[in-house]
Amino acid sequence: MGALQGGLYLKAKIKGYAKINLLLDVLRKRNDGYHDVQMIMQAIDLYDEIIIQSAETNRLWLTTANIPNDESNLAMQAALLMQKNFSQVPPLAIELKKNIPVAAGLAGGSTDGAAVLLGIKTLFHLECSMDKLLQLAAQLGSDVPFCLSGPTALASGRGEILTALAECPRLYLVLVKPPFGVSTAEIYGHLNTAEIKDRPDFDYYCQALQTQNSKIILSHMSNALERSTFALYPDVAETKRQLQQLGAKYVLMSGSGPTVFCAFQEKIEAETFYKKAKEYFQEIYFSQTITATELKERVSISDES
Ligand code: ATP
Repeated sequence: MGALQGGLYLKAKIKGYAKINLLLDVLRKRNDGYHDVQMIMQAIDLYDEIIIQSAETNRLWLTTANIPNDESNLAMQAALLMQKNFSQVPPLAIELKKNIPVAAGLAGGSTDGAAVLLGIKTLFHLECSMDKLLQLAAQLGSDVPFCLSGPTALASGRGEILTALAECPRLYLVLVKPPFGVSTAEIYGHLNTAEIKDRPDFDYYCQALQTQNSKIILSHMSNALERSTFALYPDVAETKRQLQQLGAKYVLMSGSGPTVFCAFQEKIEAETFYKKAKEYFQEIYFSQTITATELKERVSISDES
């Protein structure tokens, strides 16, 4: 049973897009245990598919067994948060088709949480400003506000303070996920911020986005967490090395890993590389950065037929 509107039972279908980090710096450890970070985050065209409709009781259907299917799932947490804040939101049935690899550094859980917030707001025509939705998103997790607003933003604080940036020119991506997950908390726990020597120049990078200078955007990508992840999981460093050896020039780990991505300005170059790399890696994805227009179209409302 969907939301009854004009005699029709409606459901919301939402694409929850993954992200990569083009720049990631960790400034300091805070008293609350989190770290202050600075990141340039970019939404990419790899997405989970979520369907929301009203039901007798809250239920969650998953297409994968490797994430929780109870109230700890970020999709269900988002639904509970909306029900707590908006009395008109009924019990919900949520279907979640996972395409984004889990514990991969691609914000898979966060994007599901953001997608459910947005889907519920749209389906039930809630009077909820974007600011209010962003506040709710921050309660779910540090990356959730970005997943809600994207597609290119500077994130600071613990990642939840966002400044929208000029849209990244289209980049084509080949992502390789090593055959294990990484816990973000473990990577931060192992990090000594005093050891981070080369700090990226965010102003310079933002200007490159402003002027759509793909060469600078590609050649100045960096991630301060690579050192920590590589020390704990040498296979991630090895994956990066192999991708470089296969000929990718711009290769970086995303978030706390273990996914490593290769970025290209030209689609044909990325496609050729993808075909070659597929011979060597089991879990490999072809993707691209997405635009604000594409992100705006992520929610659709339909009747049940
Ligand atoms: P980030 O890049 O934000 O650090 P990640 O991409 O590395 O996150 P996730 O895919 O979000 O990691 O998974 C982290 C953990 O979150 C998983 O081990 C899983 O148990 C839990 N989780 C809860 N809800 C979800 C969800 N909807 N999708 C994936 N993982 C979820």
